[in-house]
Amino acid sequence: MERLVRIVDLRVYYDLPQGAVKAVDGVDLDVIKGEILGIAGESGSGKSTLALAVTGLLRPPARVASGKVLFNGVDLLKLSNDELRKIRGSKIGMIFQDPNTYLNPLYTVGFQVGEVFESHRGGPIGKYLNDVIALFKSVRIADPERRVNAYPHHMSGGMKQRVLISMAVAEKPELIVADEPTSALDVTVQAEIIELLNEIREGMKTSLIFITHDLALLMEIADRVAIMYAGKLVEVGSTNEVVREPLHPYTKALLSSLRYERKRRLTSIKGSIPSLINPPNGCRFHPRCPYALPKCSQLEPNLIDVGGRVVSCFLVGG
Ligand code: SF4
Repeated sequence: MERLVRIVDLRVYYDLPQGAVKAVDGVDLDVIKGEILGIAGESGSGKSTLALAVTGLLRPPARVASGKVLFNGVDLLKLSNDELRKIRGSKIGMIFQDPNTYLNPLYTVGFQVGEVFESHRGGPIGKYLNDVIALFKSVRIADPERRVNAYPHHMSGGMKQRVLISMAVAEKPELIVADEPTSALDVTVQAEIIELLNEIREGMKTSLIFITHDLALLMEIADRVAIMYAGKLVEVGSTNEVVREPLHPYTKALLSSLRYERKRRLTSIKGSIPSLINPPNGCRFHPRCPYALPKCSQLEPNLIDVGGRVVSCFLVGG
């Protein structure tokens, strides 16, 4: 299996007056060519910061304290903004949660998608009209010849997300990073977008990093899942194995809250994500862990390989 992305000991901190928020704190993770890697965790787990690091979109007060993000062997963290701009949109596409933030209300969607071609291949934008129509067809935007002249406010949320997806895939990138791409959509549209992303992966052999707080979505789309808690990875493995037999207590808690939710007995994991300015000593999950041992508040468990699964818990593999 060929690696496309290798994240090595990545630490990203946000410098605030109160102290440094350790949003991502020592993450090692690979993305295999052609796979869909799901990254899940509660809000504040660090998953969106990880997405920003991979797409070169970290901005102050975020700072990379250490580590590498190797894309085809090139460390993205060492590139200039101009070099990153060339890679973004051509080799790495991005899809974010709220299309309204990324679509300019003053321009037609066709013009804005045409800009992607213009920025990578040169102008004028008008010569890409047929390419934009073809792209709209490929992401199943109905009546694309007419839709290219529509403004964002003429479109539904699902349609705008399809426009963003068409921008992300315009140059057939090797990697797409999708951060909560369906959480603003209703369930039916959500299912259509998941199906579309799966088709794009199959058709273009693109790798996809799919970030969500919703483990149920990853069960539908991801080949592997990485579970994050308080800036750290706690479990990584094939989706089937992790769902069938979660090993880390946090993964178990996430899955059981999901099962309760399905039975409409809403519950959540007791407690909340700790302060990432002064995270707990030892295992960061210990204040919420029903299985905590005395040493869990003193020592930090390493990530260890347990038959192809990577887990950080003293109860596993020891
Ligand atoms: Fe719970 Fe200890 Fe395992 Fe952390 S290391 S998840 S506190 S048992």
